[in-house]
Amino acid sequence: MRRVDPREPQLAVTDWGATRGDGIFESVSVIDGRMPPLDARFDRLEASARALDLPLIDRALWTEALLRSIDAHDPVERLAVTLALTRGVEGGDGTPTAWLLARPARDFTDIRRTGVSAVTLDRGYASDAAEGAPWLLLGAKHLSYATNSAALREASRRGADDVIFTSTDGLALEGPTSSLLVRRGDIVESPSADSGILAGTTQSTAFGFFESRGFTARFAPIRADDLADADAVWLVSSVRQAVAVHTLDGRPLPVDGELTAALNDWLANAARSE
Ligand code: PLP
Repeated sequence: MRRVDPREPQLAVTDWGATRGDGIFESVSVIDGRMPPLDARFDRLEASARALDLPLIDRALWTEALLRSIDAHDPVERLAVTLALTRGVEGGDGTPTAWLLARPARDFTDIRRTGVSAVTLDRGYASDAAEGAPWLLLGAKHLSYATNSAALREASRRGADDVIFTSTDGLALEGPTSSLLVRRGDIVESPSADSGILAGTTQSTAFGFFESRGFTARFAPIRADDLADADAVWLVSSVRQAVAVHTLDGRPLPVDGELTAALNDWLANAARSE
């Protein structure tokens, strides 16, 4: 393990991660320099590694590297640390490449308060595609996020901030970098990971918040057509946390500012809780 300057060249241009996006990653939100709970994140990193036939790296080694990257950084309120693992160098001996990159997180304070506009975009797969075609790597957090970025650019062309992907069989799935939560009365639902989406760590922590407030939180198929009359829709992820969708496909959705703020406090406290 070595500490390097991320502004200097570090990665071989023949790294499979660079040439094919053949690798996996995780993003860890570090608030006030405190190490967040990592088990769920390591579970997902290992699930992604298994999906891509990449070796598993010892959790203690990742944790030590994380601690070092936090220590090496000037103290800031929020750091976003990326952990990445690739198949290594083309023509090499198969040794994977791994790195961490700690950077000050973008300031999402305003967007957490104001929410986002979103458009639904077809992902082009049925919600059961993962089962018959595991090579699509649906549900793995792999480095080939170019399609997710393309979807966000399409949203921008349509005058929106974000995206809710839909399946060809009409289900709402997730955002390009976030999980979907939908409230209807005292029930909060999120699509289950077997619909070809990433198992969200923030979604799981958010379920704890809603249960603590007396809501029923559960996984369920969510019909894209039903989003229009939901009582609230959020997109949640570890660094940006929870943002309410205030407009979907140009039509307004109800926003509960107090509940969203309380959810964000809960998520920030959970990240500081180790
Ligand atoms: N879904 C996708 C496609 C993502 O990229 C992310 C986060 O990057 C999420 C969901 C949310 O995951 P988490 O809450 O663990 O950050």
